[in-house]
Amino acid sequence: MGIKGFQGTSLLDFPGRIASLVFWGGCNLTCPFCHNPPLVLKPDTFPDLDTSEILSTLAERKAFIDGIVVSGGEPTLDSGLPAFLRGVKALGLDVKLDTNGLAPQVTAGLIDQGLVDYLAIDLKTVPERYCELHPGTVFPERLLETVRACVGAPVELEYRTTCVPGWVDEDVIVRLGELIDGAPFWALQQYHPEHALCETARGLESYPPERIQSFADLAGQYVQRVIVRGV
Ligand code: SF4
Repeated sequence: MGIKGFQGTSLLDFPGRIASLVFWGGCNLTCPFCHNPPLVLKPDTFPDLDTSEILSTLAERKAFIDGIVVSGGEPTLDSGLPAFLRGVKALGLDVKLDTNGLAPQVTAGLIDQGLVDYLAIDLKTVPERYCELHPGTVFPERLLETVRACVGAPVELEYRTTCVPGWVDEDVIVRLGELIDGAPFWALQQYHPEHALCETARGLESYPPERIQSFADLAGQYVQRVIVRGV
């Protein structure tokens, strides 16, 4: 585990902010449809970037950016994450954390310490199918714990679902909607199969935009706001 990538500025990845992107290597899932397989499968082929150098670069950039996006891989697996985020917050920058939601205690701890401003949690499919997302042991109940811990949490909260055929359909949207009922925001994302981790996932045909919109209409019955991305 460690920081494997650092990217200048993006207008797209942190709603309402200009942000730098920081990528962690390694993950506790191997989703067949993962869009970043080298970071997940071969993190050791990327050198660990020095956190103090990244903080120095962020200090130079802070006049031009509003915050950073912490993504991966799965950043919550790194025990050095809180210390790094304390350094980022000391610069006065906002932090968006992208997570698969399987580390409720880490996530709750970061929120309690005021180290996260915006939390984006993936909902990949119904919880009982999470065991199909990795050959090792998966604890989907931890996702439910994260969802419970985030009710009323003092962060901007986004749930997001990539609409992968075979993993997400109307029934799944209803089940996930029931899980996060009343949440502020749910982003439904188009699936782009080109760089997926598994060959079978690379061969899937994405849903047509009108099907994603029909998912969004359903999702809107459960949460305060829904958007569709990438269609
Ligand atoms: S999609 Fe996310 S949770 Fe799944 S393997 Fe890739 S980085 Fe990990």
